[in-house]
Amino acid sequence: MEGCIFCALANGEIPTNTVYEDEEFRVILDANPANIGHSLVLPKKHGENIFELDAQTVGKAHALAKKVAEAQKKVLNCDGVNILQNNGEASGQTVMHYHVHVIPRYKGDKVGLGAFGQCVELDKEETQKYLEKLSKAVSENE
Ligand code: AMP
Ligand code: ZN
Repeated sequence: MEGCIFCALANGEIPTNTVYEDEEFRVILDANPANIGHSLVLPKKHGENIFELDAQTVGKAHALAKKVAEAQKKVLNCDGVNILQNNGEASGQTVMHYHVHVIPRYKGDKVGLGAFGQCVELDKEETQKYLEKLSKAVSENE
């Protein structure tokens, strides 16, 4: 898409640190890494976020994130990995082209993703109400 920085990076119009590339994806190093090796899985096809992109591409992106995570574990000897994917401004998305973060983690590091930062209190009835509504919406979305 014209003017989209991740379209330009994914499709090789702007050179970048490429970890992996195939017909549909490019994996690059994040320009502001939370830890060394912090990578982004970019589909070459433009879709703003998970609501816009087809399920097949989303699935492939996650499968590729697994490969990247395994490579990070092997090469960087990290203790863990965060797979993170933001959708919409409210979630913290800043670049509006779907991407999956793969972030190496080390015991005691100071990366600030470990907790959700808030925990809402719901009574049993409210929990049950949303459980039923969500369950129905997921089942109907096939
Ligand atoms: P998000 O907040 O999920 O939209 O993440 C966007 C990520 O893209 C951030 O971690 C940025 O550091 C990263 N980023 C932005 N521009 C570039 C770029 N030109 N090359 C590599 N990473 C970038
Ligand atoms: Zn794009």
